[in-house]
Amino acid sequence: MTRGIECPAIAELKKVLKTVFPEVEIGTIRFPTPADRHTSGLAMDVMLSIEKPEQKAIADGIISVLIKHHSLMRWSDIVYSDWSDDGSIYYYHIPGGGHGYGGKPLERNNYTKDKKHTDHFHIDWVDFDLKNPLPEYNLNPYQQSADAKRTGFASAIQADLEALNDGN
Ligand SMILES: [Zn+2]
Repeated sequence: MTRGIECPAIAELKKVLKTVFPEVEIGTIRFPTPADRHTSGLAMDVMLSIEKPEQKAIADGIISVLIKHHSLMRWSDIVYSDWSDDGSIYYYHIPGGGHGYGGKPLERNNYTKDKKHTDHFHIDWVDFDLKNPLPEYNLNPYQQSADAKRTGFASAIQADLEALNDGN
């Protein structure tokens, strides 16, 4: 079983983000009880706050690049938030399409599960068809899908991420 090890797609994305945005904090593996998708190595949190305009601009830019290259990357879901016109916070998720996630693919959909995603955005490669049975589920909820093992997208996304960093 793969537990506590980043899946190849997460590892590759983290490496590119660390190269282009070395100052941005990134979290992948963690071991809460019960375990979550981060424990299975299928998720990443990118610490960029909507409260800080320059951080939010980087996050929005990264997310647009991830959407643009979805066909290469095949991530499952992104969770973040934005300001509504009335000043309240709009919590949203963007499903990639498939992998058991609902909502309109590659668009912002209302997210109601929690209100945690204001100081970071979350991206994952979870596939709900690949749930481990109990009791293993409590230690390691998901197996890696073929998409979670995807690599080879780094150069395509790096060029677009560097353009963001140049302020283009
Ligand atoms: Zn997360």
